[in-house]
Order: sequence, then structure tokens, then C-alpha cells
Amino acid sequence: MSTPPSSETVSPALTLGLEDRLEHWQEVYRDLHRHPEVAFAETRTAAVVAQTLRALTGWQVTEGIGGTGVAGVLENGEGPTILLRADMDALPVAEATGLSYASVEQGVMHACGHDVHTASLLGACAQLSANPQAWSGTVVAVFQPAEEVGSGARAMLDDGLLDLIPPPEVCLGQHVAPFPGGVVATRPGVLMAASDSLRLTLNGAGGHASSPERAVSPVVLAAAVIMRLQTYSAQQAPLSLAPVLTPGAVNAGQAANVIPDQAEVLMSLRTFTPESRAKTLAAVERIVRAEAEASEAPEPPTVEAFNPFPVTVNDEAAAERVMESLRGSGRTVFTLPAPMAGSEDFGEFGTRIGCPSVFWHFGGVPAQRFGTDGLTALAQGGGLPEGVYANHSPFFAPDPEVAVPAGIRQLLGVADSWIARR
Ligand SMILES: [Zn+2]
Ligand SMILES: [Zn+2]
Repeated sequence: MSTPPSSETVSPALTLGLEDRLEHWQEVYRDLHRHPEVAFAETRTAAVVAQTLRALTGWQVTEGIGGTGVAGVLENGEGPTILLRADMDALPVAEATGLSYASVEQGVMHACGHDVHTASLLGACAQLSANPQAWSGTVVAVFQPAEEVGSGARAMLDDGLLDLIPPPEVCLGQHVAPFPGGVVATRPGVLMAASDSLRLTLNGAGGHASSPERAVSPVVLAAAVIMRLQTYSAQQAPLSLAPVLTPGAVNAGQAANVIPDQAEVLMSLRTFTPESRAKTLAAVERIVRAEAEASEAPEPPTVEAFNPFPVTVNDEAAAERVMESLRGSGRTVFTLPAPMAGSEDFGEFGTRIGCPSVFWHFGGVPAQRFGTDGLTALAQGGGLPEGVYANHSPFFAPDPEVAVPAGIRQLLGVADSWIARR
């Protein structure tokens, strides 16, 4: 696999002058990386975004949408309106990269690359301002808070985002990944799973560990529930779209010789269709209730779903258009054979607006780190090369010189296929 030369692009008019400003946007990225902020606390980041947009020609900027969200609108004559989205939040992860621009905030890190997304969208906004002759239409830039908890997009929409922007005909978004630079992965149709967190509260009757016959152990009940739920996915077909149901935490008891009153099980559920989601949630309820009954629980259990993320669906026609324009700008576009089990709240925008949306993942790691067969290995589900880490790892470290130019060029290349002056 060869990496495209960094200057290659299908839209030279929109990228005019970008080469000279790349250093600046990489520095903006490093600054954001140094100062990460968790969901809904992105005040410094939002201020940097708003200040940067206001310093550019033509952007109407609104701050404080849905907490810390920022939206910019740039009108440039007749033509389509498109929405470009970046997320701004970091994670409660202690950075371990040792980079010179590593986080200075204790226990907070841009471990998912949202700093790449923010810096890239700012860079694209600057190019649109600087090259009005190259395009015609309106661009909406949305910088959303709190993607990691699945509620930032919804918060901006609930707070009246759609009254502040003209209705876009397409929503476009991207995510940096530990792929080789120059590689983009996406697919038409369902791209990413819907996600729900589940809290199962299992009631028992506590007692002395020496006399379990006089108690109802919520610990044993929790074990039965977990094992029963583990077999649930295996019965769902087709397998590529089967729900993923994973226990992440079990909280019960404190001593070896005491049977506690209650157990709590936290689970993560990933589904790929609304039907599967509804069916699985109903199945969890049913199984948990039945197991509690089988254990003679004195009180029924409760199942609470929280932190919902919608399924991410790429409009078929718009996705083909995006993939074609990315190929045209020298990217290696990999069509994913199946949806990813990860989740995103990007889909909220297109759903609420009622327009198509397209999302793609792109490489932020120097291609040579992957060797010649890197893409093949990746395509076959192979692991990452040594020293390359996945999103959410405390070692996650996209290369600014690869990821930021790619992020900017992709946004411009894809935007170009809607708004280029022809
Ligand atoms: Zn993430
Ligand atoms: Zn992310």
C-alpha cells in the first residue's frame, strides 16, 4: 500500500494555501491535546473553537448550545447547505504516552482523538473562509460536547440548534482510528451499533454464609443472570448483526461470610437495528425476572437502561458519494464488511433534521508503522502493530502530522462534492 503524497487532493481550490497553515493546525491540535476536558466540561475547548471561528472571515458563531456546544454558519451564495460535525470531549483516562504535549490535566486525556476532529474541522473552516471563490452554498460547523456519554448531540438539538442554523441537506462526520495514514474505512448502511448501558438491580435476602438455606443470595442470582444472558446472543441470527451483551461490573457484598441483600450488575448492550434493540431489552427484562423468580427473590428485580447511543446509519447514496470523493482525493477507501460494535451519537443530527448522514473512520498513524501488509492485516481483523494503540487506551497517540492534515483534507474533499463551484 502506498501513502498518497500529502499535497494530493481532488479539490485544489478549497485546499489552496493549506500547506502553509498545516503547522498551525497541528499546533492547535497539540494545545487541545494538552488541555483535555471531559463531557460537558469543554469550556476552554469551546472558547478556543469560538475564538478561532470568530477570527475567520464570515462565520456567525453561537456558543453555549446544549451546555458547551458551538455552532458556526458560513454563507457563501446559492447552493446546498451541509453540516460538518466534530466532537470536543476527552475521557477520564490518565495519559501514559509520555508525549511532549501530553495532557496536563490529572486523569483526563484525549484518548479518543476528539482533539483531532476539532482541530481538523477548524482547519477546514479556515480553508472555506479563505477560498470563497472555490465554492458556493452554506456550511454549518457543529462542535459538540459529550460524545463519550452519548448525550452531547441530543443536548445541542434539545437546546434549539436547529433554530440557529439553516436546514442542511447532509450531515458529515469523521473519526480518527489506529489505521495507516491515508486509509478510510466506512460502509453504506448500518456503520456502528446502537448502545445502551444497563443497570440490573437484583434483590435477595441477606444472611449468614453458613446458612444459605435461610437466605436468598443475590450473588448467586447475579451469576445465573450473567451466564444466561451470555448465551442470548448465540441464539440470535444473523450472527454479524447479533446483539453484543457484555457484563462490565458486578457489585455485591463485602465479606466472605455474609450473604448481602442486593447485587448490581452493569452491562453494555450493542445492537444494530431498532428491532433487535427492542427485542433484546425485552429479553433481558424477561430473563432477569425469571431468574429472580427461580431464586425465590423476595422482591422483583429492576432493569434500568441509561446512556443510550443511536445506531449510526450511513445513507446509501450519500455514502457512495463520500467514498467516491475520498477515493478521488487519493485515500484508500476500505468498505467494512460488517458494522462495527462501537457507538457514536453523530446519528442524532441526521435523524432529528431528517436528512442523510455519512460517517467515516480514518487513519492517524504513519503508514510505514504497519509494514506493507498493514491494510490487509487490518482488513482481516488482524491486531495492531507493536507500539500502535487503539482509541481509549492511555497510550493512544495519533500522529499530528498524519492525522490533522488527513482530517482537514477529508472534510474539504467530501464537502467539495456538494458545494464546489462548477
Ligand atoms: Zn471514544
Ligand atoms: Zn470518539
